[in-house]
Amino acid sequence: MKPKIKNKRWSKEFEEPIRRAWKRKRVFEFNHKTRRPVFSIDTPPPYVDAPVHIGQAVTYTIMDFIARFKRMRGFDVLFPLGLDRNGLPIEMAVEKKFSVSIQDTPREKFIALCKKLLEQSSLESLDSFYKLGHSYTSWKHGEEIGELYYTDSDSYRKTTQETFIDLWKSGMIYQAKRISNYCPGCRTTIADAEIEYKNLSSDFVHVKWKVRETGESITIATTRPELICTCGMVIYNPKDERYRHLKGKHAVLPIYEKEVPIMPHPSAKIETGSGLAMMCSFGDYTDIRFFREMKLKPIVAINQDGTMNEHAGFLEGMSVDDARKKMIEILRSQDLIEKEQKVMHRTPVCERSRNPIEFVSISEYYLKQLNMKKNIVRVSNRIKFFSKRSKQILLDWIDTLSMDWAVSRRRYYATEIPLWYCKKCGETIVPPKGKYYQPWKEKPPVKKCPKCGGKDFMGEERVFDTWFDSSISPLYVLGYGRKNGFFKKSVPCSLRPQGKEIVRTWLYYTLLRSYQLTKKPIFENIWIHYHVLDEKGNKMSKSLGNVIDPLDVVKRFGAEPFRIWCALEGNITLSDLRCSYERIEGASKFLTKLWNIARFVSTFRAKKTKPPLLETDKWILKEINRIAKETSECYENFDFHRPVSDLKHFIWETFASHYLELVKSRAYNQDKKFTKTEQVAAIHTLNEVLEKILLLLAPIIPFITHKLYKDIFGKIVEEQKFPKPDRKYTGKRTGFKTKELMELSSRIWKAKKDKGLSLKAPIRKATIPKKFRKIEKDLIETHNIQHLEYGDKLKIRL
Ligand SMILES: [Zn+2]
Ligand SMILES: [Zn+2]
Repeated sequence: MKPKIKNKRWSKEFEEPIRRAWKRKRVFEFNHKTRRPVFSIDTPPPYVDAPVHIGQAVTYTIMDFIARFKRMRGFDVLFPLGLDRNGLPIEMAVEKKFSVSIQDTPREKFIALCKKLLEQSSLESLDSFYKLGHSYTSWKHGEEIGELYYTDSDSYRKTTQETFIDLWKSGMIYQAKRISNYCPGCRTTIADAEIEYKNLSSDFVHVKWKVRETGESITIATTRPELICTCGMVIYNPKDERYRHLKGKHAVLPIYEKEVPIMPHPSAKIETGSGLAMMCSFGDYTDIRFFREMKLKPIVAINQDGTMNEHAGFLEGMSVDDARKKMIEILRSQDLIEKEQKVMHRTPVCERSRNPIEFVSISEYYLKQLNMKKNIVRVSNRIKFFSKRSKQILLDWIDTLSMDWAVSRRRYYATEIPLWYCKKCGETIVPPKGKYYQPWKEKPPVKKCPKCGGKDFMGEERVFDTWFDSSISPLYVLGYGRKNGFFKKSVPCSLRPQGKEIVRTWLYYTLLRSYQLTKKPIFENIWIHYHVLDEKGNKMSKSLGNVIDPLDVVKRFGAEPFRIWCALEGNITLSDLRCSYERIEGASKFLTKLWNIARFVSTFRAKKTKPPLLETDKWILKEINRIAKETSECYENFDFHRPVSDLKHFIWETFASHYLELVKSRAYNQDKKFTKTEQVAAIHTLNEVLEKILLLLAPIIPFITHKLYKDIFGKIVEEQKFPKPDRKYTGKRTGFKTKELMELSSRIWKAKKDKGLSLKAPIRKATIPKKFRKIEKDLIETHNIQHLEYGDKLKIRL
């Protein structure tokens, strides 16, 4: 008999026709009218126009494992992909590409340029995901449930605005003038969650001051000499004996000649600089807290745009950096500097543009969150987290929140805040839901002010923080506001998969926003993953030259080696993965082995009816059913590493090296030493085990299993149910352990090999333990035993 599988090996060329067929036949399309249970995945929308990096390739592939597994479990899987097209990165790309600046470009024109850039933007990310065999519900952009969504579409922005209108009406939004984090690079306020700390080198300038009452000279060291004008007090540590005599006296600001009190305070560190510190408005967090505590009136010297204002006197109009340089220059020229040194300073920086954060006083809209802390912890406790350790990141973050969330921003390409104001009395006009609004260029939805009857209005010009948009993604994908019937039926969303670096932002904000709108946990499961590093454990970066491009991986090896590698390499739920081309290539051996085994098994055609089985057959079926049970349990918990590693071991060792060897002669039955029924039993079992293996692996390696399953069993693997363990076998005892049987054969083979004999060489007499009696016929044939006896231990005479 010839094998049904003609090709000698798996080739990456087999992948494309399968991919095309999936797409053409819309195999994974979602029908929102489905009667089956829905499993919904709130996939993170990757940023448009950015090539997919290896970390995304790995984690979205694991999301695809989940989607494919759940389909085989009988769910209708809602697995939409979105593209994030809002916000700063687009604006920055526009400024660069068209050489314009947002400040000098009219809004209308600037937005047109954003749209132009987005039209030309590549869909490279989609191409990578397509090549990797991902089974998103649609590749087409649209507003239907399951279609590819854009975060800047009118439909998405409308939903964001509707959630805002709801929050506004329930009193969750307020406007306040407060000190906010301000990034001079992004030219907007940013949230605490977007701040990172970096050790930056800065100039520590020791400046000479005077004490008014005594005329003595004191030295105060600072990294922010440009903020001397905002100094409200000079302090020393109460334990610092050098300055006790200065208590209650006054220090005179250099250049500005203003006086401020000198007081003892524990925030001053004896060992830092001279031990004296000038307390400025908004130099850093400590200063902010200090001013609040001492009830000092802050002097704001930095404008919203990051330039110095009139309080800074001669520095007015300069950027903070220029002002600092200028100040040092002036101090030097007046001989007011004692010394200058370089120090490393732990500095808050913007996580996007890396600019040091400034603190400015600015009016913004706030979303209440401090009154929600307990509720968010409570809903989090009703969600299953994978892993528990990652949940702690969320809880710790909630614990540290100390301010409400400033949600307004001064940018252009983002969702507009849907509000108008009466020019006469200042009344705020909130539009009805149902439309996407652009108040900066549209008329309000009312003709007259309901309060004063005024007819002139001003549209709000600010937009939302992009997290205000992205934090409604599960609501959007489940049809909130668009398909309310489906939304009610499908909430909570089954799964949020995401990286641990955005727990404080995306995850927290989503839980907050959904809770405020629905009063429920929005997710059933949250899966949080670690990162992908290079083989030495370093972060991949262009400058290190260790970047692995997923498209290059696919070009070299195809999708399948990469996919199986994702499962075999480790469990990214618990720790980082290390990646290299060699490791991925190494994983492709698994495919070769699987192909060879399947090809061999495909030589033997199974009959439809099930024959009575021999003990050897029952043993291997017990094994594969045990593995099926374990696999299914692990997949349910988003663990793909352990079961696939165990499957690999089963395929190579238990199935190929032992069971196949034990039943080969029975399956061929060339010398007619077995009955027809016995032969059929072996053939049946070989096929049954192979079929189970293919089904268990189908979510992981969908291409090769698709082809093998179709060629051998004539059916479509994506349409099959995930194998359930068969109790008929799992409960049964075989009389011997798998390990014992494998050891028995291995020792016999080794004995022959040691004597330089072939594995088929005859054994004149063998003594084997009694527990193997039930499989003696297979053992005799496999090992060519001419005389068999039973005893306690294995003994063979060659
Ligand atoms: Zn920034
Ligand atoms: Zn009015």
